[in-house]
Amino acid sequence: MRYDNSPPSPESGSSISPDRPWYTRRSTLAVAAAVLAPTCLAGWVLTQALAGPAAGDPQTRAAPQPASHTAPGGADGKAGATPSAPAAPASPAASGSPLPSGPPLASGSPGAPAGAPDPLAGRTVVIDPGHNTGNFKHSREINRQVDIGTNRKECDTTGTTTNSGYMEAEFTMDVSRRLRTVLEARGVKVLFTHEAGPERPWGPCIDERARIGNEAKADAVVSVHADGVSEGSRGYHVILPAAVRGGSADTSKIVGPSRTLGERIAGNFARTTGTGPANYLGSGTGLVVRDDLGGLNLSTRPKVFIECGNMRDAKDAALLTSPEWRQKAAQGIADGIVGFLGG
Ligand code: ZN
Repeated sequence: MRYDNSPPSPESGSSISPDRPWYTRRSTLAVAAAVLAPTCLAGWVLTQALAGPAAGDPQTRAAPQPASHTAPGGADGKAGATPSAPAAPASPAASGSPLPSGPPLASGSPGAPAGAPDPLAGRTVVIDPGHNTGNFKHSREINRQVDIGTNRKECDTTGTTTNSGYMEAEFTMDVSRRLRTVLEARGVKVLFTHEAGPERPWGPCIDERARIGNEAKADAVVSVHADGVSEGSRGYHVILPAAVRGGSADTSKIVGPSRTLGERIAGNFARTTGTGPANYLGSGTGLVVRDDLGGLNLSTRPKVFIECGNMRDAKDAALLTSPEWRQKAAQGIADGIVGFLGG
C-alpha cells in the first residue's frame, strides 16, 4: 500500500483508507465489535460463497475468532489511530495449516463439451506490480502531481517495507512474475505495467499504469500490493473502484465487472493461501471500495488492487517474505482471474 511518499522505512508507513475510521473513540470499540461481529461473519460467508462451490470446505477454514484490538499509537501514528476491526476469521496459514488442495474455485469447466472454444484464448490480462524498487531514489519524479480525473495526486509512491526491510516493491514484482507464469500457462496473454530494472528506474505514474491497461483493452487488470499498517492488523483485502466521474475519470462501466473480478480473487486468494480477510477494514469481507486511487479511477477496464497482507505485522510479514507463500498468493490471484474470464 503506502499512498504517501516518505522514504520506505518501517516507521513511515501509512495508508489512507476512506472507509476508516468508523469509530474514533476506543470506548466505542467493544460495542462496535459486538454489533458488527455477526455482519463480519456474514460478509466472510458471502465472500467464500462467491469464490465458488469449494469455498465452503470446512477443512480449510477455522472458526471465526474475536478480533484482537490494536492499541492506538503503534509504530506508525496514522495506523495506530485506526480502529481495530471487528472480528475476522482466523487464519489457518497463521497456525501452519497446509495448503488446501482442490481445483481452482469458480474456474475450469470439466463438464464442457469437447471442442468447445477456450474461454481464455485471446484474452489479455494486465498486471500492475505496485510501486517500483527505485522510487525512493526518485522523490522529485514520483512526487510530481498527475491528474486522476477527480483530483490530482502524486505520480507514484514508494510503497512500504517489512520491519526487516523487505520492500513492498520487491514483493509486488515477485508475486506479479509468479502470477504471469501461472496465467501464461493457461494461455492468457499477460502484459506488465513495468518491469522495474534499468529501463524503468522509477514509476510509472499512476495515470500511466491505468492507461496501459486501457490501451491494451485488457479483459482484467490487477494491481498487486501489500499494506503497511500497525502490528496486529492482519489479512488481505481487495480494493474495488467506486463509481466516480470527473475529468477523464468515469468508472461507471467498470464498477460491476470489477466487483465480480475482486470477489473471485478474494475468495480464491483466501483458499490458496489459507489467510483470512483483513481484520482492520472491510468489515471482514476482504473487500473495500475506494474512490481516491488514480489507478482505479482512470481505468476503463475491469480492475482491482489486492493488498496481500500487512508488511508491518510480524505474522503477516513471515508469510509475505516466504517464496512458498507468494506462490500460493499468485496462484490464488490467477485462479480468481481465470474464474472471472470464464476459464
Ligand atoms: Zn502499495
